[in-house]
Formats: sequence, C-alpha cells, structure tokens
Amino acid sequence: MRYEAKDWDAVVEVLRNATEITVACHVNPDGDALGSLLGATLGLRSLGKRVQPTFNDTAPVLPFGYSFLPGGDGLVAPGDLVDAPVFLALDCGARDRLGALVEPVAMRAGTLINIDHHPGNEDFGHLNVVVTTASSTAELVTRLLVDAGVELDRDIATCLYTGIVTDTGSFQYSNSTSETLRIAAELLDLGVDKTEIARSVYETAPFGYLQLVALVLSRARLFPEERFIYSFVKLEDLRQTSVPMEETDKLIELIRATRDADVAAIFKEQEDGRFRASMRSKGPVSVGKIARERGGGGHELAAGFTVDSIEESVAGIVAELEP
Ligand code: 5GP
Ligand code: MN
Repeated sequence: MRYEAKDWDAVVEVLRNATEITVACHVNPDGDALGSLLGATLGLRSLGKRVQPTFNDTAPVLPFGYSFLPGGDGLVAPGDLVDAPVFLALDCGARDRLGALVEPVAMRAGTLINIDHHPGNEDFGHLNVVVTTASSTAELVTRLLVDAGVELDRDIATCLYTGIVTDTGSFQYSNSTSETLRIAAELLDLGVDKTEIARSVYETAPFGYLQLVALVLSRARLFPEERFIYSFVKLEDLRQTSVPMEETDKLIELIRATRDADVAAIFKEQEDGRFRASMRSKGPVSVGKIARERGGGGHELAAGFTVDSIEESVAGIVAELEP
C-alpha cells in the first residue's frame, strides 16, 4: 500500500473475493469518473467477476469526447440494475453524487466501497479509500486493481490513463505528483495511445462548440479587484449551437485562462431552471469551501454547486472574495 488509507487491504480482499459487483461513478461523469468506472469494470471482469457498470439517472451514454473508451458498450441503465452484494462507488465526493436512482442500490449492498479523492468525503461507505493527495480516482483504481490481482492490459490502461490525464489537466495541475507520473508511465508502457486520447478528448468538438465558446467568452465578466471572472451558458445557447450539455465541461478552462483572475466560475442552466456552477481557483482561495457553503462540494481548486440565481450567487461570491 502506497497510500494512507486504513481500509486499503480490506477493499483489496473484498474485490478479490467478490463474484458480483456493481460499479458506479458520479452523475454527469467527467474523464476521471468514466475512466475509473470502465477501467475498474474491465479489470474486475478480467478476474472472472460479473460486473454491472452504471451512472446517471437516465440511460448511461458516454459523452462525445469519451466514446472511444473501451468497455462503454456494456453500461447498465440504473433502472435495470440487479442487486449485487458488493457496490463500488468511484469518484463520488458524497453519497448523493451517485444520483437519485443509483444511490438506493448502493445503500442496499452488503458492502459499499467508497473510492475517491475529494476532500470533504465523509467516508460514506462500509469501506473507504479516500486519498485526497491522489491526483484522480483513476490513480487509486490502478493500484487497487493491481493489488487485487488484475493484470492490466491496454484497454484497462487506456481507461485509467484517460482518468488521470483529464483530472490533472494533462499533468499541469498541482494535484499531479511524481507518483502520478510514475503510474501514467506504467500505463503508457502497456500500449496506451496518448496522442489518440488527447485528440479524442480535446480536439473532437463539433463546429457549433466554437460558436458556443464565442458566446460564453463574449459574456465573461471580470471583477478585477476580487480577481474573479464568470460567465454562463443558457439552454437556448445549446439549442442554437447544437452542443449537448455533456460537451460544456471544458468551457471553464477557457474562462480561467486569464491572468487577471484567480477564481473562475461558469453557470450552466439546467432543465429545472436552476444553474449548476463550476468553479476553479489558482489558489489560495478554496472554491471547495465556497461550494460546500452552498450545498455542493469538490476540491480546494475545483468544485461545483447548484443555485437558483446567477446574480445572487455572483454577488455572494464577490462579497466573499472582496480584498
Ligand atoms: P466540475 O466543475 O468539473 O463539475 O466539478 C469540479 C469538482 O467538484 C469535481 O471533482 C466534482 O466531482 C466536484 N463537484 C462538482 N459539483 C459538485 C456537487 O454538487 N457536490 C459535490 N459534492 N461535488 C461536486
Ligand atoms: Mn476525480
């Protein structure tokens, strides 16, 4: 065991002995959630276990940039899950991140295993491997699978590498450690095509996405004193540009690129009229704290929450960031 996690060996033991396992990641999954989910699924299947991978409240479909991930064809809709004695929750900072349909299935499992790297994770599993110094859940899953006896192959490694590369901003963010790079190197040695992954994840946007970027950037508002920038996406924008909501994850990376702000937010309108906020910080401000105060969660430097009004939320954040 290379990580500080008291349940590590117990989790390895359960994974070794289980014959039926449900594996789930958080709703609206990102690269780490999907890579961990499919990497764990393929890895556990290679040990002869029956695995049901699932996520979201509707039929789980891989977002456009992740459709290349191996194993995505075997996803099970939450409504079709059969109860299994072991449930693996991946990259879920809190239990409710599993979503309304998957969470009750997790609660009924004999052994609920929580594998995550979000600070503020309250060990909601019977067994918990929560390592906040890990770059990604995929990094933890890599080591757990190997300890459980999985022989990693190219497909498994492709999933896990994708999780690591996306959660570290291609190894740029502070969460990327020498251990992260060692693990990534081991995965590359299994034949992972890192150029193909980068192209799939970062360079397959439809033309309408560029129009959406133009809209979002043109609306960005900077608060120079507070070093805060934000913008927003309306459902109407998505209709106009034919961009699905799953493709809007990287807009925040564009907003945060200015040197004139340390904290960035993007608000995305939901079907229910509320707004999902994604926040990023370059430090020292903890957007994780800002998100938790508003009923959301996340890391110190990347977090999210949901609000009724953009204006009210911005006013609150600006007040909090006042120098
Ligand atoms: P993103 O802005 O990419 O959606 O999320 C950034 C980080 O915050 C991710 O690690 C994500 O899991 C976490 N996060 C986003 N929204 C929420 C939320 O509503 N609750 C919790 N607990 N975590 C969130
Ligand atoms: Mn993650």
